[in-house]
Amino acid sequence: MSENEKNAAQDGTSSNVLDKLSVETSNKNLENIGVELLPIHTEGTVHAKRIPGNFRKFKWLVASFWIILFVGPYLRWDGQQAILWDLANRQFHIFGLTILPQDIWILAMILLFFALLLAASTAIAGRLWCGYFCFHTVWTDVFTWIEEKFEGQPNKRQKLDKAPMSFEKIRIKAPKHLIWLLIGFATSFSFVAYFTDAIDLWARLFTFEWGSVETTTVLVLGFATYFFAGFLREQTCIGFCPYARIQGAMIDTQTVVPTYDQDRGEPRGRMKRPKPGEEAPQLGDCIDCNLCVAVCPTGVDIRRGQQFGCITCGLCIDACDSVMEKIKKPKGLIRYASLQEFTGKKLPAIWKRPRVIVYSFIMSFAAIMIVWGLLSMSPIDVKALHERSPLFMQMSDGSIKNKWTLKIVNKGAEIMHARVHVTGPEGMKVDVADNIQIQPGNVGTATLFVQIPRKQLTDTNTPIQIHVEDVNNPQINTTYDSVFIGPKVR
Ligand code: SF4
Ligand code: SF4
Repeated sequence: MSENEKNAAQDGTSSNVLDKLSVETSNKNLENIGVELLPIHTEGTVHAKRIPGNFRKFKWLVASFWIILFVGPYLRWDGQQAILWDLANRQFHIFGLTILPQDIWILAMILLFFALLLAASTAIAGRLWCGYFCFHTVWTDVFTWIEEKFEGQPNKRQKLDKAPMSFEKIRIKAPKHLIWLLIGFATSFSFVAYFTDAIDLWARLFTFEWGSVETTTVLVLGFATYFFAGFLREQTCIGFCPYARIQGAMIDTQTVVPTYDQDRGEPRGRMKRPKPGEEAPQLGDCIDCNLCVAVCPTGVDIRRGQQFGCITCGLCIDACDSVMEKIKKPKGLIRYASLQEFTGKKLPAIWKRPRVIVYSFIMSFAAIMIVWGLLSMSPIDVKALHERSPLFMQMSDGSIKNKWTLKIVNKGAEIMHARVHVTGPEGMKVDVADNIQIQPGNVGTATLFVQIPRKQLTDTNTPIQIHVEDVNNPQINTTYDSVFIGPKVR
């Protein structure tokens, strides 16, 4: 039984009916059932055709995640911006939590986690990031959708591009460029609003009080968005993006990617009525309509095999499935499949693949570290720097004095009133400020003196504990272990 017959049998359709259809259906008949025969795009900007389908829906669904970029700066937590990179004070605020430079390793773990997630998802199903989630892909998708609203279907857009400059051409194109620019600047404004208070940024926009860094960043990023998503489009994926270059190292024969089923599709050919006396050609399921190429945002013809330009968006699957439906053949001529499947070998379960196991192991490690770091992160942190010169002072009554500089970090969202007390040998005297006031996310400094009678010192180094607590919230406290340094004991 041929592949076509097998598929037809699975589909519940008689192979005779399909054979009959392939012989008797002319190009005219194809048009009647809604199958367009399209030329292949060869030069200039790719104007991809949009058709409905499951992958199209999925793309929009995933793309909607990026709405967070625009609403994120306006979320509030305890009266403050919920997500804020305060570069001037070297603090990262996220929903009431302040991450200071000493906790930056948590951010490094988050980055490691997402880098490995990217590698694992690529190993499993190709360029999922590129096809569905990447900001460039999403913005380009939105930009071309707007273009279609103003300039029409791809053939009309191609004609308009080639037409000489005229008032009519400017009239048609101007609204699109205006909306592109607005989206570009909304994007760059939202980005900058994560680094400074968003409401304040708006207020200062209308009073012309933006600093040079803010102005430059918004302008450069805004025009870059306009240029990359509006003009460079697929060329960014093909020619600029470094990830496109390294993903080859993550894909193997077990990776499932949109693939054209050569055995089933070839020899391809348009369905034509045979002339009297002519034998009907034995064709595969591909009717060479080129719809899969016409919908491809990067202009790839997937029938030539996996290519560098393919961002694995699945839109060609939607296209081909719609054609198969119309000509009453089984869907899946183009489908997510691995090379291994096509060589007849069974694909092992995802969790049995060494590459996925290694990636998952590192991801789990990073995830555990992130959770542990966040759970163990104290709202207070103390460093006690012992005076180096002199290490100790001998007082007139014979007692020994040491000096420390205390650095108390307030990682909370409210002003801290810190109180210090020290535990150590009997007879110890402590001299430190009663109440150290520290602003949220700031470091407070205080000088601590400890004096101990000489007879209590049995060693050169005597352990002491410096306790610091927030007077208003005594449950916020920490202890720093230090040593009191004295003269040699004979
Ligand atoms: S070949 Fe298919 S999956 Fe690849 S980019 Fe084009 S439409 Fe998307
Ligand atoms: S693979 Fe499918 S969509 Fe592409 S040309 Fe063949 S029939 Fe048309």
